[in-house]
Amino acid sequence: MPDDLPARLASVRARIDAAAGRAGRNAGEICLIAVAKTRSVGEVRAMAAAGVSDIGENYLQEALEKQAALADLKLTWHFIGALQGNKTRAVAEHFDWVHSVDRLRILRRLAEQRPEGRPPLNVCLQVNVDGESSKAGLVPTAVAEVVEAARSWPNIALRGLMALPAPRSDPASQRDPFRRLAALARELEGRFGVTLDVLSMGMSDDLEAAVAEGATHLRVGTALFGPRPAKNGPYSQ
Ligand SMILES: *Cc1c(COP(=O)(O)O)cnc(C)c1O
Repeated sequence: MPDDLPARLASVRARIDAAAGRAGRNAGEICLIAVAKTRSVGEVRAMAAAGVSDIGENYLQEALEKQAALADLKLTWHFIGALQGNKTRAVAEHFDWVHSVDRLRILRRLAEQRPEGRPPLNVCLQVNVDGESSKAGLVPTAVAEVVEAARSWPNIALRGLMALPAPRSDPASQRDPFRRLAALARELEGRFGVTLDVLSMGMSDDLEAAVAEGATHLRVGTALFGPRPAKNGPYSQ
């Protein structure tokens, strides 16, 4: 219901402010990405009117349709879904950020396919922090190799790490995977002399834990737009 949207947004912003306050952080430095998979053009337009200009999408075709219908707005588009080789060209051409890079081969294609004259494509490497066999993402020990290979490639800007941990209900254990992701970023910075200052972590149910551990980009769907229609399933990966 678009009518409820301003109230839901205010509530999410209040949660971020409170979590940032507890962590001694400035909430203004935390980017809220509205995850719009399965949401209509009208819902995204309402979100933009309410003041959210960063939009996350999982499904390429759906995203391209919405981008075309919303071309009059100044939005920043984040691709956060599973990324196969046959989708990299469209992603490199139509998005500002990709959070879900989990293979060197995919990153190479994005670098080659980013159109000249556009700003570099902002990239986060997705890390399988929980080592779940069912989940996408680089295992933590494989991330270094990708950072080393890609740190000087043109047309992409390697910005940081992303995680989509297994759900945990209690707030203390929610922090564990986020803390490990942050530590991995610091370790890679030290080892390769790169800057990885983006931590894309935290969703509707665990954003407080993510903010406490240093999240710079929160990817929030349900808490902003309301429950997703069940037929599409909760996640694409
Ligand atoms: C759907 C999705 C989200 C948002 O999840 P919510 O629980 O609805 O906030 C965040 N990140 C990714 C990668 C997703 O697929």
